[in-house]
Amino acid sequence: METMEKHICIKCHATALDEDSVFCYNCGYPLNSNYCTNEVSCDYNNGQQIPLPEFACYCDSCGSETSYFQEKLIQPSENPQNEHTFN
Ligand SMILES: [Zn+2]
Ligand SMILES: [Zn+2]
Repeated sequence: METMEKHICIKCHATALDEDSVFCYNCGYPLNSNYCTNEVSCDYNNGQQIPLPEFACYCDSCGSETSYFQEKLIQPSENPQNEHTFN
């Protein structure tokens, strides 16, 4: 059985205590909350907000900036393929 990936707080980089943790236990920032900012016409926001990967600076569906990127919590990677392979 595959273990679910625990989220890492984008703000303080604490690892969440549980796979289903919603907020960072250390700083209280909502985990896994990297949403597309195009609330009007994006598929990800159609009906329910679906979080994008935590490293995504832009929505891969509509090209809008993500909330993490707008808050300057993440930067576009110079080496995206290598950097985001999870172990
Ligand atoms: Zn935190
Ligand atoms: Zn989008």
